[in-house]
Amino acid sequence: MLSITQDITENTKVIFDASMLDITSTIIVSQNFNDDPSRLVVISKQTPFHPVDYKWPDQPSDHGVIKVANEKLIVKDCYVGAYNTKSKELFIDSEIPISKNENSGWLFLVVHIADNPTGLNPANLIGEQAILIVESKRRNEISAAHTGCHLMALALNSCLSDFWKKDFQNDSLGNPDFDQAAIQKSIIQPCETLDVYRIGKSLRKKGFDAVRFWESIGDVSSCMTNIINRWIESNSYISLTSEGDAVNSKRSWFCELDGKKAFIPCGGTHLDSLSRFLSIKVSLDGEIEKNEFTIKTSVGVNL
Ligand SMILES: [Zn+2]
Repeated sequence: MLSITQDITENTKVIFDASMLDITSTIIVSQNFNDDPSRLVVISKQTPFHPVDYKWPDQPSDHGVIKVANEKLIVKDCYVGAYNTKSKELFIDSEIPISKNENSGWLFLVVHIADNPTGLNPANLIGEQAILIVESKRRNEISAAHTGCHLMALALNSCLSDFWKKDFQNDSLGNPDFDQAAIQKSIIQPCETLDVYRIGKSLRKKGFDAVRFWESIGDVSSCMTNIINRWIESNSYISLTSEGDAVNSKRSWFCELDGKKAFIPCGGTHLDSLSRFLSIKVSLDGEIEKNEFTIKTSVGVNL
């Protein structure tokens, strides 16, 4: 937790649109990170940086630079911050004690952690106009991996749709949402994601046929590959919607797949069209004793 000396009155405005990777904005907070003079906490009114989600940290932080007062500050970590407007305390990432819906008395900020190799006085940056620039190659490759991960999840649900002996909550394409029910962890990297699934007791009680799954894991893999290839050949557009411009605003991902409008609630970044994919490969690997399996999704893209 950091104590902030100045008053903050608004959420950070965020832009997760791939076409806006640099903007000019005013610095409102600049101070040492946990009394470490080699790293600064920098907060601007507006930012193109995508921070790590503090509840579901699947997508890693953007990298980039902040150009301000003739300095070029390197940013390799960017987090969500929750600022208590009464106590003026800033909680960063896993320290945040509130849910994303808590808007009364709290503001949601994007916290850039910048290197400060020259020992710059952080107070000098407050009120300055800065240019915030996200490194585009890394962002685009992360966006591609995130889109690939959504296609993988929908294809997985489709290929497992007749493995259910009872009705279960459906995804937006009308298949039982295995992904949502079984996912434990998702790690997104440039051009690659790793998703960890667990077929727990409750899932089996709800009607998922785990025995059949383990017998036919190879067929599931080829089924997913076929579906995903069909989808990327459709060249469908991808759109993102948001209920607001704060980092905690509800966001969704949309894409037309097989003539249906697929959507997934998501605060990540994505490519704008499936036409950018050259290939998406999935590989399933599991441990029947643990009832756990992983899916590695690798994407080839033309950016
Ligand atoms: Zn997502």
